[in-house]
Amino acid sequence: MAQRDPYEVLGVPKDASADEIKSAYRRLARKFHPDVNPGDHNAEEKFKEIGSAYSILSNPEKRAQFDRFGTTEDMPQDPFFGGGAGGFSDLFEMFFGGAAGSGRRQQRMDRNGDDIEVQLELTLKDVLNGVHQEINLERMSECDSCSGKGGEGGAPPTACSTCRGSGMVSQVRDTLIGRMQTSAPCPTCRGVGWTIANPCKVCGGQGVTPQSARVMVTIPAGVENGNTLQVPGQGHDGMAGGSPGNLFVHLRVKPDKRFQRDGQTLYTKIEATFAQAAMGHSTEIEGIEENHEVSIPAGTQPGTRVAVRNGGLPPLHGGRRGDLIVQIDVRVPTKLSDVQMKLLQEFAEVSGEDIPKGANKGLLGGLFGKKK
Ligand SMILES: [Zn+2]
Ligand SMILES: [Zn+2]
Repeated sequence: MAQRDPYEVLGVPKDASADEIKSAYRRLARKFHPDVNPGDHNAEEKFKEIGSAYSILSNPEKRAQFDRFGTTEDMPQDPFFGGGAGGFSDLFEMFFGGAAGSGRRQQRMDRNGDDIEVQLELTLKDVLNGVHQEINLERMSECDSCSGKGGEGGAPPTACSTCRGSGMVSQVRDTLIGRMQTSAPCPTCRGVGWTIANPCKVCGGQGVTPQSARVMVTIPAGVENGNTLQVPGQGHDGMAGGSPGNLFVHLRVKPDKRFQRDGQTLYTKIEATFAQAAMGHSTEIEGIEENHEVSIPAGTQPGTRVAVRNGGLPPLHGGRRGDLIVQIDVRVPTKLSDVQMKLLQEFAEVSGEDIPKGANKGLLGGLFGKKK
């Protein structure tokens, strides 16, 4: 369906004011209103056409679009009640994407700084308490000579004359399937949209120079191996007013031979002798930074686990420390003296157990042989 010229439909000139358009619409709408013309099909069609024309000319964006393109038909909204701005601006982007882009580029002749990534090693004690750590960096910082502008004497960049600031150039190429227009990054400015006529001699037009810096970072307690801390604005400086990058600190918690970690819980192992396990005992063990008293209950079996409350690590955002879980292994003596063997034999006898024969016949066989 061809779209009729809304100015023609409402009978107003191209430069009609909003008030003129409104009064023309009201006059015609009253004239062709279906209530005034019952059963008149032509009047009904005319009434719809007037409404459609008014919906275009009463909306500044739609009116501008019609003025520019002679149609509003590509707009996705309902012609009567559309009103949304999306259709027009999408279309504008479609036709004038490059031009709109270049407009933006011309206002942004800066460059944001890159991020810096570093790795930091921590001990479990650092995880327990948190740590303030100074990190030494070599980073690109604002050039003193040009104040970060990139041009000699602090002159700012200017829009690239080759691509007029868009960063892209069109190329027409003859191919097997005909002429093709493609766009490519501008060779003059390498796609950034600006150039520096007289680059600063100190930084070569980069606006930044490598400088060593010290950054204090605060690592909270409770972090995990592999966590990354982001320190905003502590990356490389930008150029000509661009924002600095961020500093990312990747945390590596060094393994500790004494403990296995699972979140806030730590695991460790101790050995108890047969006598300690059987009779019960109390012993002191090494924690992350303090010693803990561990009681081995009488009759402890190998592999029994006891918990030291709050002997583990704190959660990341504060709260009670986890537990230190202590696994008790019962040590069996590997070498026995004659006296020990005699006592163990008596122990077995008193316990009503079979008397061990012993694996070493030469020694135990003789001893127990005499007894029998
Ligand atoms: Zn400079
Ligand atoms: Zn360019």
